Amino acid sequence: MSRAIYPGSFDPVTFGHIDIIKRSSAMFDEVIVGVLNNSAKNPLFSTEERMEMLMETTKEFDNVKIISFGGLLIDYMKDNDISVIVRGLRAVTDFEYELQIAQSNRKVSKETIDTVFLTTSIEYAYLSSSIVREYASYGTDVSDFVPAFVAQRLENRFR
Ligand code: ADP
Repeated sequence: MSRAIYPGSFDPVTFGHIDIIKRSSAMFDEVIVGVLNNSAKNPLFSTEERMEMLMETTKEFDNVKIISFGGLLIDYMKDNDISVIVRGLRAVTDFEYELQIAQSNRKVSKETIDTVFLTTSIEYAYLSSSIVREYASYGTDVSDFVPAFVAQRLENRFR
């Protein structure tokens, strides 16, 4: 069975993330969306809230599972028998960082882990959770960027 993990902060989930989840769910038998539980990042939404929003937005995909992880991603992968990481690439600015992480994960895992990159769909190329948070914090409507109920959560959070 082919299993892949799609890790990230998802603070909050955007249409860009959903696009990557949908496309990877068609490529792998199972896709595990891994929400990074890292208090140092000081997220807007708690790990539980981010997971809940992901569950709601991905419920139509039977082979997608939402989990959270602390610590090292590759340790979680080893413990759970997952050997592929999925990441999204938006622009060249993502490339250098992603390349470094992918190469070091490959090295540290003794060549047992590979990273697969999906290029963003063009309509979401500019989209990031941080831009969404920024707009929402000024009361701007973000329903073009995130599902309606996520936009509502953002509005409540900043009210
Ligand atoms: P991280 O903090 O790990 O970058 P994010 O939640 O910002 O977590 O992103 C998780 C993954 O989703 C990353 O691979 C990122 O490149 C990808 N991603 C984010 N936004 C988009 C988008 N608009 N289109 C495609 N991929 C995206």
